[in-house]
Amino acid sequence: MIVFTPLGWVVERDQRASEFVRQFDALIASHIVPLDFNDLKDRNRGMIFLTLYKLLCSRNEKYIPLLRIWKKTEFKKVQAAIQQVISDLTNSNQMTDAEWQVLVKDRARTLIVSSKEPIFLVCKTKRCDRTFIMRDTNPAYYASGRLILPDACPNHEIFDDE
Ligand SMILES: [Zn+2]
Repeated sequence: MIVFTPLGWVVERDQRASEFVRQFDALIASHIVPLDFNDLKDRNRGMIFLTLYKLLCSRNEKYIPLLRIWKKTEFKKVQAAIQQVISDLTNSNQMTDAEWQVLVKDRARTLIVSSKEPIFLVCKTKRCDRTFIMRDTNPAYYASGRLILPDACPNHEIFDDE
């Protein structure tokens, strides 16, 4: 069993979620329709939800057929989250960019699961060196498609934090 530090897991979770998205892309590119996604069942919930968040952020309807197949094998709570993403992607072409941003921000609250333990980082701003707790549910850290750790404490943070 591999034991991750809270920070290590947040990084690992993001990489695995991105890997699932890449696998979805590969399936779609090669026109392979899997019979099920049993492999995704019973996995870490935070990782699964982050995968869904990344698929949502793509704003790309191409994932819907695979999401429908995935939904069949999942437990209720994940099923509901998958259905939400399917509906959101279906409705996205009738939404303005501003409306879409609001929706994605709202979904981030449920799909980006907070670490159980605090993640401590050190501010890299000159002469600050303050230790601060990373708010790992901040969507801004995931906005580029992969997790970018903040390198500044809240006093020096440049991200637009809602
Ligand atoms: Zn600082």
